[in-house]
Amino acid sequence: MSHGPTYIASKGYCIYCKRSEVRLTDEHIFPYFLGGAHVIKNASCDDCARITSKFEMDVARELWGDARASYNAPTRKKKNRKKHIIQPDFYNPGQTILVPIEDFPAAMVFYQMPKAGILQGLPDSVDLSTQWTPVAIHDTDKDNKFKEKYGKFATSRFRHVPDSFARLLVKIAYGQVLFSLDPDDFQAFCLPYILEPKKNLSYIVGGRSSSPEPKEGIGYEIKTNCIKFPKRLLIIVEIQLLSNASTPSYHVFVGDVVGESEIKRAYDKIEATWAVEVDYDHCYKAVSDDAFHWMPSHWPLPAWGTE
Ligand SMILES: [Zn+2]
Repeated sequence: MSHGPTYIASKGYCIYCKRSEVRLTDEHIFPYFLGGAHVIKNASCDDCARITSKFEMDVARELWGDARASYNAPTRKKKNRKKHIIQPDFYNPGQTILVPIEDFPAAMVFYQMPKAGILQGLPDSVDLSTQWTPVAIHDTDKDNKFKEKYGKFATSRFRHVPDSFARLLVKIAYGQVLFSLDPDDFQAFCLPYILEPKKNLSYIVGGRSSSPEPKEGIGYEIKTNCIKFPKRLLIIVEIQLLSNASTPSYHVFVGDVVGESEIKRAYDKIEATWAVEVDYDHCYKAVSDDAFHWMPSHWPLPAWGTE
């Protein structure tokens, strides 16, 4: 278990494109806007950072912009943060009112996903993203207060960015594995999904059919899991972004390791980092129930799950 900022040593090259003769910048494993406090030092070149920040910003602004503002999530551009939001005026039809952002109970949108294609034994040509269903997470208390004050429930606005959302999950999962392993220790087949657009993300990204119960005080959860075959180790990361609300739980297939000694080495490294419970039944299993909770510095949103 780890709280507060933690720095992970630089790998000496860009974790995405593996180039070393370039300027490298620090990389948050969990995005800063989600309260991420774990940072890989000098991890990303400018070219790769441009790609990853594009889909990160899609999620931060397009999908969760209002929610982040209304719940005062971390931002590096506090000055640009909107202070009001325009809403239809219930008492004067056809008119609008300016609602202070802190009064506004913005819904936070996630996607409920079926299991990843690879986990269902499907080829990567089968696109399951048509089954990704938006789910809006509400703070009902704040919803009701808004209605009392403004006469009706709030109307949230956002733009759907399912691919950017899934790519962000892949990026988080990859960073998580680098907490235990070096890029040379495994075959990161997730990399093209981070760097290239228009990949079938549903092949390696999926979710559970139901969302876990809220866990009070837990900002986000992330676990490294393994499926162990005699000659292959599959590395999977499980992610829940706001565990103190009932948000979907995701899994990302990050990569694999082939060869007996290579598997042992990688597995030992993962084990050394986490409280890994060895599972020889080749089944999909969490390494440990409380293997890892990262507590963000700002989120969880205080109004959710706690009063
Ligand atoms: Zn790079």
